[in-house]
Amino acid sequence: MSAMFTDEQVMIRDMAQKFAVEQLLPHSEKWDQESHFPVDVIKRTAELGFAGIYVKDDVGGSGLTRTDAALIFEQLSYGDVSTAAFISIHNMASWMIDTFGSEEQRLAWVPRLTSMELIASYCLTEPGAGSDAASLKTKAVKDGDDYVITGTKQFISGAGTSDVYVLMARTSDDGAKGVSAFIIEKGTPGLSFGANERKMGWKSQPTAQVILDGVRVPAANRIGEEGHGFRFAMAGLDGGRLNIAACALGGAQLALDKAVAYAKERMQFGKALAEFQSMQFKLADMETELQAARVMLYEAAGRLDGKTPDATRWCAMAKRFVTDTAFKVANDALQVHGGYGYLADYGVERIVRDLRVHQILEGTNEIMRVIISRDMLKG
Ligand SMILES: Cc1cc2nc3c(=O)[nH]c(=O)nc-3n(C[C@H](O)[C@H](O)[C@H](O)COP(=O)(O)OP(=O)(O)OC[C@H]3O[C@@H](n4cnc5c(N)ncnc54)[C@H](O)[C@@H]3O)c2cc1C
Repeated sequence: MSAMFTDEQVMIRDMAQKFAVEQLLPHSEKWDQESHFPVDVIKRTAELGFAGIYVKDDVGGSGLTRTDAALIFEQLSYGDVSTAAFISIHNMASWMIDTFGSEEQRLAWVPRLTSMELIASYCLTEPGAGSDAASLKTKAVKDGDDYVITGTKQFISGAGTSDVYVLMARTSDDGAKGVSAFIIEKGTPGLSFGANERKMGWKSQPTAQVILDGVRVPAANRIGEEGHGFRFAMAGLDGGRLNIAACALGGAQLALDKAVAYAKERMQFGKALAEFQSMQFKLADMETELQAARVMLYEAAGRLDGKTPDATRWCAMAKRFVTDTAFKVANDALQVHGGYGYLADYGVERIVRDLRVHQILEGTNEIMRVIISRDMLKG
C-alpha cells in the first residue's frame, strides 16, 4: 500500500478486500459458469457504504472521494471483476441523480439506491450510436406533464433486473445539446428488455437491450434542464472510467498473484519455472507495468477529486493505460500457466475474458485517445 494513502483510506481498502475475499472470490468461477447475477451479494455491499460511495451523506451516501472509490473497486474486482464492475455502474447512475437531480428527486430516489433497495442501470448506448453517443435517436416527446419516450438502448448492464434506468433521450434535434436525462422505473408500461446477450466475459451480470415503446414518464423524472443530459452523462463517465480502470487493475492483480504462485510450484526441466531468468524477467515486467498503471489511476483520481481542469484528460488517459496494461498482464499470467492457464479451473482465463471488455466500454480506448488528443491540441 502506498504511503500516499491515509489511515482512513487503508481502513476502507481493507474492508473492501475482506468483503471481496470472503464473499466474491469463492463464488466467482461458479457465477461465471452459470451466468448468475448475484444480486443478493451485491446488495450486501450497501451495508458497507459501497452503493453510494461518492454520493452525499444526507441521502445515505458515503460522501467519499474518487480516490476512495478506486481503492474500493480495485479490491472488489480482486474478488470478481464482473460483479465489481456492475456495482460501479450502479454507483455512477446513483451519483448522477444525487449530483444533477432536484432536491425532490434526490430525496425520492437516492436513499433507496444507497441502501440498494433499488439497483440502477445507465442507458446511453444505442444500436446506431456507440462511440458517437451524441447521435442517439431515442426520442422523448413532451405531452402535458409527461414525456413519451420511444427507442432502443443497446448493451445495458443490469437490464431487466435493475429497478431504475438513468436514460439519455433526445428532446430536440440539436445534437449533444438536444439530449436530456430521465429516471425510468422498471414496470412502467411500454418498457421491456431484450434477451440476455451471450458474451465473452462479464457473465455474472446481464447485458441486454432496453426497449421503450411509448413509455410515459412524468416530467418530474427529467434530471436537470432539458438539453443538459449529455453533459451529465459525460460527467458520470469521468468517474465511471476510473472505476472501470480500478476494476481492471484488481482483476489483473489476482492474475499476477496466481502467476507468481504457479511459477514457484510448476516444475519443468528439473526446476521450478521461477528459476528461469526469462520467467523472472517476465514477472518483473508484469509487476512494473501494473504498478505504473496503479500510480496513474490514483493520480487521475486525485485530479478528479481536486476538480483540476485537466481531470477529464487524466481520466481518459488512466482508463486507456490501465485497462490496456491490465489486460496484457492478465494475458501474460495465462501464458505463465501454459496449457493450464487455458483451463477454467485455474481462474486466469476468466480474468482475461472479463478484462477484455474494459478496453471497449465506457468509451473505447480509441475514443480515449480522441479525448486526450483533443484536449492536448485545443486552443
Ligand atoms: C458487456 C458490455 C456492457 C456494456 N454496458 C453498457 C451500459 O451499461 N450502458 C451503456 O450505455 N453502454 C454500455 N455498453 C456499450 C459500450 O459503451 C459501447 O459498446 C462502446 O461505447 C462502443 O460502442 P460500439 O460498441 O457501438 O462500437 P463502435 O462505436 O461502433 O466502434 C467500433 C470500433 O470503431 C472504433 N471507433 C469508433 N469511432 C472512432 C473514431 N472516431 N476514431 C477511431 N476509432 C473509432 C471504436 O474504437 C471501435 O474499435 C456496454 C458494452 C458491452 C460490450
